[in-house]
Amino acid sequence: MDAGFPLAPGATIGILGGGQLGRMLALAAARLGFDVVVLTPEIDAPASRVARETLIAAYDDPDALARLADLSDVITYEFENVPAAAVERLKALGAPVAPGGQALAVAQDRVAEKTFLNEAGVKTVAFATVDSAEEAAEAARLLGVPALMKTRREGYDGKGQKWVEHAADAGAVFEALGGAPCILEAPADFVRELSIIAARGRDGGLAIYPIGENHHEAGILRRTVAPARAAPELAAQAERIAAQILTRLDYVGVIGVELFELSDGRLLANEIAPRVHNTGHWTQDGCEVCQFEQHIRAVVGWPLGPTEARARVEMVNLLGDEAGGWAKFAAEPETRLHLYGKREAKPGRKMGHVNRLSRLEPGR
Ligand code: AMP
Repeated sequence: MDAGFPLAPGATIGILGGGQLGRMLALAAARLGFDVVVLTPEIDAPASRVARETLIAAYDDPDALARLADLSDVITYEFENVPAAAVERLKALGAPVAPGGQALAVAQDRVAEKTFLNEAGVKTVAFATVDSAEEAAEAARLLGVPALMKTRREGYDGKGQKWVEHAADAGAVFEALGGAPCILEAPADFVRELSIIAARGRDGGLAIYPIGENHHEAGILRRTVAPARAAPELAAQAERIAAQILTRLDYVGVIGVELFELSDGRLLANEIAPRVHNTGHWTQDGCEVCQFEQHIRAVVGWPLGPTEARARVEMVNLLGDEAGGWAKFAAEPETRLHLYGKREAKPGRKMGHVNRLSRLEPGR
């Protein structure tokens, strides 16, 4: 166990980021007796409204980081695009940050991520690095087409990526993505998209949830069904992948790993999220200890909790105006409603989610 841990209730957890994930982390932390301080550039952020205190500043503001370090006994983050320099600064100020810098570095760059995964013995699609239009054409010849071009950094919800249908177009696609460093990926011929949510504690112990099956629309997660119907070998394969990643990163906290299931039953890893994950929201009502509490337990050095499913859950994101249906959802006995308190329902914006519970039939 790391020095200074476990933290006792009454300690303060700092969270970088003020969105819905920060809000649900803060709620879980409060239930265990911890206080939360949020650092976010956003005024009136979802997490701020349930936290003890909010520092409104840019993530790299030195004064705000010093204040956060001063107030917090441990610091975590709710999104992976926190500047690496901010985490370094917090560490230099003596504040423990979890998960650690390597997880963040790997998750911020798609090439570093796939390279790390392959080195950790986790398979991914074949890929090539693309730094110029010429390299794009060369990479497309090497990998074949179609292939998927993605910016190395800061893509999310399907943004920052385009298919290359003809090798001759690869340079133009690179330019259309803004000419920023890219990765070109071979297509994954998947039958399903799955994900696995798992945690590693400060004592190195692991807690791995059942896998979820994910459905996207227009690049945004629409719903997750968990536990996914899966043969025991498939579940074991996913668990091995999660364990390899967590152990290799010497990780502390919850991680989400997005997976492609191929028709021959093999799993490829697509992406790592070094944080609680939208595809893990089902655990709030499907498990005794949800991903948010699990993350708090991990970062404060508490024992990890159980991860078995006690219900089958269909988690559906409420996008834009859909959260306006709250009265209907509230009247459905099998539905648990989670709203993020966002003031403005822009189209496609994640405003909340519902977890619809059904019985877990024996043998899943
Ligand atoms: P990502 O931003 O990497 O999570 O990708 C967003 C979505 O694009 C994924 O959920 C998949 O549906 C699809 N996708 C990503 N990478 C590939 C790939 N190499 N082959 C086929 N589909 C992909």
